[in-house]
Amino acid sequence: MIQMSFASLVETPADAWVFGFLGDDLIIGHDGLLPPAGALGTLPQASSFGIADADGRACIAQQWPADTVLPAGLGVTSLRAAYEHLPPPLYRLATRAKLLNTWDRQHRYCGACGTATELLAHEAARRCPACGLVAYPRLSPAVMVLIHRGDDILLARSPHFKPGVYSALAGFVEAGEDAEECIHREVMEEVGVSVGNLRWFSSQSWPFPHSLMLAFHADYAGGDIRPQPGEIEDALWVSKQALREGRADVLLPSPVSIAHRLIHHALD
Ligand SMILES: [Zn+2]
Repeated sequence: MIQMSFASLVETPADAWVFGFLGDDLIIGHDGLLPPAGALGTLPQASSFGIADADGRACIAQQWPADTVLPAGLGVTSLRAAYEHLPPPLYRLATRAKLLNTWDRQHRYCGACGTATELLAHEAARRCPACGLVAYPRLSPAVMVLIHRGDDILLARSPHFKPGVYSALAGFVEAGEDAEECIHREVMEEVGVSVGNLRWFSSQSWPFPHSLMLAFHADYAGGDIRPQPGEIEDALWVSKQALREGRADVLLPSPVSIAHRLIHHALD
């Protein structure tokens, strides 16, 4: 049972789960798992706060600059790669630690008046002592949508995807926009088609660097695929039957992403 919490001043008990980061990378032991709390004890003083209680064990987020030298036996991994090794509850806590570390590092000064901010004791918030502005951890909602047309689904690739990988469409929610409006706009911008019958699927914290993914299915309503230059390298209709039988000429996204679950939900 995991209970989210926040505490700015914490001791690190010997049995704590420590989610330590060097820059954006998670510190791990040689087995790919979280190191014992004591293994990080020789590092210089770091920012450190409590982020949860997992079955009575304290969970601590810590971070050091990316060029910090680690003790022997420890290494780092990207948070995406850590998905392969950490059990799901610990992986989710690692994403929470990364989000809080990023926020803590990027809100040292007040955005309104420039004064150094102070961490509150029992709430994830940094407050300006001069003007009172409070900065909370940043979350940026983004939508993901898988478009269905009969037995086909629309998959697309962005230029920064690994070669051969195709996924559902995704984009950030604009200020003043709701998730549904965002889907209609993004789909029209990215591939030039219209959609209807939006169906909620699921959501996922995606700390790269601070997104909250909101995933939907939708039905094709009209238009021909017209990939947006610079954003979409290729987009195409792919047969679900061909995907199920391994005959489709595309690679699907890694299991770490909600896109993987969304596409497989359509295939099941
Ligand atoms: Zn201020």
